[in-house]
Amino acid sequence: MRQIKTDIRSLTYEQLEGFVQSQNLPAFRTEQIFRWLHSGAESFDEMTNLPKSLRKLLDERACIHKTAVYKKLASKQDGTVKYVFELYDGSFVETVVMKYEHGYSVCLSTQVGCRMGCGFCQSTRSGLIRNLEAGEILGQLLAAQRDMSISISNIVLMGIGEPLDNFDNVVSFLKIVNHPKGVNIGYRHISLSTCGLVDGIDKLAKLNFPITLSISLHAPTDEKRSSIMPINKKYNVNSLISACRRYQSKTGRRISFEYSVINGVNDSPDDAKRLFSLLSGIMYHINLIPVNKIENGKYTAPVMKRIESFRNLLCSMGAVCTIRRTLGADISASCGQLRSKYETERRVGN
Ligand code: SAH
Repeated sequence: MRQIKTDIRSLTYEQLEGFVQSQNLPAFRTEQIFRWLHSGAESFDEMTNLPKSLRKLLDERACIHKTAVYKKLASKQDGTVKYVFELYDGSFVETVVMKYEHGYSVCLSTQVGCRMGCGFCQSTRSGLIRNLEAGEILGQLLAAQRDMSISISNIVLMGIGEPLDNFDNVVSFLKIVNHPKGVNIGYRHISLSTCGLVDGIDKLAKLNFPITLSISLHAPTDEKRSSIMPINKKYNVNSLISACRRYQSKTGRRISFEYSVINGVNDSPDDAKRLFSLLSGIMYHINLIPVNKIENGKYTAPVMKRIESFRNLLCSMGAVCTIRRTLGADISASCGQLRSKYETERRVGN
């Protein structure tokens, strides 16, 4: 019978220790292998301080899933780089690298597709194909670092997919990327964005990692939110905000609320007032994002003046609120757009 190979980059340090033990290898091999995997090795052959016989054994028992650059687009405006990576099964995911004054930040995908169904989002249009393994979430960061010869210092889980719908793999990813012998990115430099899976928020709070939780709120009432985000029918606005309060009292972390401003849907002065009172008592930051129109989509952004008035009204009431600067507008840096374009191209054989 053919043995199924272990997806070795998806193992936490402790799981790798277990694997090394199961192969009757000396314990010090764990650290060597872990360091190689997380400095971006793509094959066991690259692990030159391991004896050849061990590299051969690893190759027989384990595999490192590939994250191959399928397309790379660099913004001429601001240096943002977008990758479409091809995974071992031919799936595509998108990853964006942004440069800030203090270093590089990467936006990672957590699933191939998404089943949340938000009305303004491209990534969900053809549903969920599959979850990404922890090593595939990490693989995007490693492949980008390797390709650009940079070191990334901040992570946002805000690419394709709903991170809390792939909970266990995302948690393994967080543990692996935070490990001092690996990539070693501090939890305070990591944000996780969710459309509002309340049970997932509670599970995450229990782990008490000091990461930043971002909530894609987008509307202050059930009627409006349900019309653009089907998840609101399962977890309504009040249950979501209560989960945010529980998360904050457990972790002490400020919560970030994302609000994609949509013309005529959620951009009135009344919406701003309701939003403000909804968040009362929470320590937060609101990010306003002009909605990015998707192909054949019915939602468009208001003119900038209207978004500024919305922000000004919120600020005048005492809210902490900014309009997100858009990066990479010339390379479709918002997620999902390139994946679907190349999926279509490949289907029609371009
Ligand atoms: N599923 C997670 C993370 C992925 S989406 C979540 O919902 O948070 C990342 C962010 O982009 C979310 O805030 C999402 O609502 C927003 N988004 C998706 N499509 C968008 C669009 N067309 N315009 C503006 N924001 C969009």
